[in-house]
Amino acid sequence: MFMSQTFRRIHLPVAPKCNIQCNYCSRKFDCMNENRSGVTSKVLTPSQALYYLEQALAIYPDITVVGITGPGDPFANPDETMETLRLVRAKYPEMLLCVATNGLELLPYIDELAQLQVSHVTITINSIDPKIGEEIYSWVRYNKKMYRNVDAAKLLIKNQLESLKRLKTLGINTRVNVIIIPEVNDTHVIAVASKVAELGTDILNYVPFFNTKEIVFENLKEPSAEMVQEIRDATSRLLPQMKCSARCQADAIGILSEINTDAMTQKLAPAALPKKAVECQPYIAVSSTEGVMINQHLGEAERFLIFGMNETGKCILIGARKAPRAGGGEQRWKELAKTLKDCCTILVSGAGNSPKKVLNSHGIEVLVLEGVIKEIVSGIFSGQDLKELINRSPLYSSGSSCNGTGKKCG
Ligand code: SF4
Repeated sequence: MFMSQTFRRIHLPVAPKCNIQCNYCSRKFDCMNENRSGVTSKVLTPSQALYYLEQALAIYPDITVVGITGPGDPFANPDETMETLRLVRAKYPEMLLCVATNGLELLPYIDELAQLQVSHVTITINSIDPKIGEEIYSWVRYNKKMYRNVDAAKLLIKNQLESLKRLKTLGINTRVNVIIIPEVNDTHVIAVASKVAELGTDILNYVPFFNTKEIVFENLKEPSAEMVQEIRDATSRLLPQMKCSARCQADAIGILSEINTDAMTQKLAPAALPKKAVECQPYIAVSSTEGVMINQHLGEAERFLIFGMNETGKCILIGARKAPRAGGGEQRWKELAKTLKDCCTILVSGAGNSPKKVLNSHGIEVLVLEGVIKEIVSGIFSGQDLKELINRSPLYSSGSSCNGTGKKCG
């Protein structure tokens, strides 16, 4: 069952980038596939998102669903998305988790989504015919390569359908969103509905195309209510459909179509974001070769510098802690989690996936970036927008996060 109409949910806006360009989307705003048009959500780090969730739960203790829907695509930002899901799962074992994606880069993460008991995944599929798809998408970026025209659509459709199959194999509830775009896919959506029904999709959601300025489709008309109803009627026997096409935003809180309250909007203001992620984890650990720059890979660190804040709000060095010896696989990272159990975040210049998973499961965020320690640590403590810190640190890596051989993280 898809729950947004009955359960109180919160969206955590941790995924700024996108890996495709839909011709109905202006990237000035949140992803149009799932979110309310014309809204721009702030972007949070995973630990800020966890803090934001804690604040939201204090106001709305009945939040039972946590979702990641953007503001870009969750799996164009897989590190941030997966880390947030792990942190939320570690702290709130009962919470229902969901994600919404264009499906291009979902497949490699589905097994871990199942392990994390992510119960609901939405994929937006507007076409199963590459000839129609090439009219809808300007480009697709995959494995660092740009695809255009029919090749782009072919790749996207293939990955979407494979992901759907895998999700169903693992028993995850799936919703397919289809944007109805007159003169482009309005006569094709029935074929899309048949295909996704055949693959076991649990529910279908038609979303009428919303026209806005500065998009490739700005001269297209929005579909009439009659067109949407006719399409719904023609496909109602194939699979269940959502009756409501209301959309929310990437940092939404509430029941579907509710707008964020002022109280919650204030919680997202930079000044309100965490000076420390949680009370019992007041410190930030840093991996550095000389103590000035964040410039060392997690797996190479022999010691971590520990920073905190004094009473006047100034960032201070608390001390240094020895890292567990290299080797020992997962055990090494469990020991590190113990050593740094009072740290909310570790700042490193690189990290492999397996240590990140272990540390996240102990409620510790791993941020991969390079820059001057004092600037970045102070920025995080003072609740600065991560985007500003990233812009100041050109070497920030929000994506693959590890270009090493993997040996460092053994
Ligand atoms: S997937 Fe979402 S964010 Fe990306 S281009 Fe399409 S609508 Fe925009």
